Amino acid sequence: MSNSKLIETVADLTAERDRDSLEGSVAQLLRAQLDASQVTYLRLVPGEGAPRLWPVLRATAAGTQRLRDAGDPRLLPPVDGPHARCLAERAALRLSVRDAPRCSYLFPVLSEREPVGLIEAEGVDAMLAPEREAAVANLLRIYRNHLALLDYGEHDTLTSLRNRRTFDADFNRMLRDDPATEAPTEGVDTRAPTPQDAPHWLAVVDVDRFKRINDEYGHLYGDEVLLLLAQMMRAQFRPVDRLYRFGGEEFVVVLSRTPPDAALSPLERLRASVEARAFSRVGRVTVSIGYTRIGPLDDTAGAFGRADAALYHAKETGRNQVLGWEALVAAGHLAPKQNDAELELF
Ligand code: GH3
Ligand code: MG
Ligand code: MG
Repeated sequence: MSNSKLIETVADLTAERDRDSLEGSVAQLLRAQLDASQVTYLRLVPGEGAPRLWPVLRATAAGTQRLRDAGDPRLLPPVDGPHARCLAERAALRLSVRDAPRCSYLFPVLSEREPVGLIEAEGVDAMLAPEREAAVANLLRIYRNHLALLDYGEHDTLTSLRNRRTFDADFNRMLRDDPATEAPTEGVDTRAPTPQDAPHWLAVVDVDRFKRINDEYGHLYGDEVLLLLAQMMRAQFRPVDRLYRFGGEEFVVVLSRTPPDAALSPLERLRASVEARAFSRVGRVTVSIGYTRIGPLDDTAGAFGRADAALYHAKETGRNQVLGWEALVAAGHLAPKQNDAELELF
């Protein structure tokens, strides 16, 4: 790749604001730079026990193919071997077999400090010039700096959860993506507990009587409650679920591909664990949660409005409870809005 071509691709890369497209661009860029037969982008999924690597897309000369969502990343095999070494050492790793004409490379994807993923390039010429190896390392540094800037704009500064602005973009992308057109992740079946055709759910979580906490203990303690709450949410939901701070003491959770009979339990678990926790000084805190199923033709205002109506009902009828909009409508407690009428009830 000539210098001017390289600068042009860097310009393209840093023009990208959409994180998912960015992963595709960086994979293609590396593929071209290394002349690799294919490049796979794997996201690092932290969680209980060993971290896992979730292959999200593959770049070949024919184009970029997004791999099917890992329904439950916990079913992926734990990271080991050279992948684990690449992440632990935070350095590129070359995998070559003696005298073989082609080799593979593993590159860690680092955010400001922690590894957040790994890029695997296969079918690279074993005689690759060192300057090209160095060029790739520099491209990854540019990518990392760009990611850090994006993070800053997309996250809430108190809790580090995603912010409301990010929610709108994520929501529309989620509805646009049709898993039926994508190839499944090879080798592992992560689909069992969360079928690919199960719906997404939107929940609004609001702290009960938060004004009283601020008034009695001061804003700093109020902020601490919000911070601890965000940590509890991060620890309890699956990495594929998305968490947002919507401003104030209101949070949004998007449960990804969850069957109707499984949507309530993670929300109820959050409610119960908040109630059971002793918050320093402030003591007992409770939350109310309203949630709704996201339909294929939904928009952010519609889905949020339904979850918020269920939340309002939860506040009106005692707080510290989780209520679903569909169940409230079925029981006659809430009336469906005009354009909600064709939504499927159960
Ligand atoms: P309920 O939801 O149970 O009806 O009562 P509430 O007292 O929580 O109701 P409301 O939503 O009216 O009050 C929210 C309060 O949250 C108002 C504001 O003082 C406080 N608040 C909003 N943002 C922040 C923040 O970032 N930090 C702190 N400490 N307080 C905040
Ligand atoms: Mg409140
Ligand atoms: Mg509120």
